[in-house]
Amino acid sequence: MKAVLVGVGQAGGKLTTALSEFDAEMGFGAVRDALAVNSAVADLDPLPLDTVLVGQSRVNGHGVGGDNELGAEVMDEDAVEVLDALAPKVTADVEAVFVVAGLGGGTGSGGAPVLVRELAAVYDVPIYAIGVLPGRDEGAMYQVNAGRSLKTLVREADATILLDNDAWRSAGESVEGGYAAINESMARRVGLLLAAGEATQGVGESVVDTSEVINTLRAGGMAAVGYGSAPAAEEAGENVNTVISTVRSAVMTGLSLPNATEADAGLVAIAGDPERISRKGAGKARKWLQEGTGSMQVRGGDFPLDSDRLAAVVLLAGVERSRRVEEFLERARQAIRDEEETRPDPAAAFQTDELDDLM
Ligand code: GDP
Repeated sequence: MKAVLVGVGQAGGKLTTALSEFDAEMGFGAVRDALAVNSAVADLDPLPLDTVLVGQSRVNGHGVGGDNELGAEVMDEDAVEVLDALAPKVTADVEAVFVVAGLGGGTGSGGAPVLVRELAAVYDVPIYAIGVLPGRDEGAMYQVNAGRSLKTLVREADATILLDNDAWRSAGESVEGGYAAINESMARRVGLLLAAGEATQGVGESVVDTSEVINTLRAGGMAAVGYGSAPAAEEAGENVNTVISTVRSAVMTGLSLPNATEADAGLVAIAGDPERISRKGAGKARKWLQEGTGSMQVRGGDFPLDSDRLAAVVLLAGVERSRRVEEFLERARQAIRDEEETRPDPAAAFQTDELDDLM
């Protein structure tokens, strides 16, 4: 999928950089161009990307803190500058625009939904969001911000791919300490998904096409991406179980949103040397995924790559009924209830009714 990325806020900028670098290192060419937007100069400066500073008249380059309503306002006020900077990047061959943000902060949390709305009004291509969910120990403000941002994003974006910081923490990595490693791992998942339809070497009818990725995301709502890989034998016939177990591990331990077990649609791309890819294994793995997630449809195919390993990239779309999403939303609602209890002014309780829209 030929894509343009827009990173909003600190996490958005860093993740967009990681995605652009992964795509360039792999030589995929799926990431056509990228832009970083922030209200904090200090977070834009170190990025190797074109940048737009928003909200300068309001916060003077110092950022919005954790105030995502202010983040939404400054994006709204300066949207034209962002659209102007983006216009030359979104060329006629671009197939989608991705707005990337951490949902728990201020600029990305508030700005991303506003920017998605603006982009959807201007472009015919799908506008997707990539949202980072805060870990469960990140504090109430992050949960509330992410809950409100996610609610609005799901309404405005064609689909929202969720990357849960907890998914990486539970893999034994410290979230705070290991952002660089986490971002690389997140970038590999999303980067492979974007590149899956771009593979042109050894084109055959079983190769995954960009339109299949887009059609899978058409289920809308929230989506998750999984990844798993394993060494492979030289003959496809010997790799039936390797393909099946790689797909299973992509879903069971390698998903960007753990336990997203119910989905409306799925896609399985088996990456590797087409000579080594067991079509029988791929067929069985798709059937397993279809039954396991209750998906209406699981698409799939090869992603030809020069490698002696096999990897599985799994996209699950329409995962909002999943236990993981419910848990997160409950965390956000609880944070709002706790906030109301500690608020001295009883009238203020009426101002936040569960998860309000940001706009
Ligand atoms: P903003 O600059 O105001 O948009 O705020 P941030 O981008 O710092 O958003 C804060 C949220 O993003 C928190 O939930 C953090 O856990 C998360 N976050 C911040 N930086 C990173 C990062 O580099 N990688 C990842 N995965 N998450 C991050």
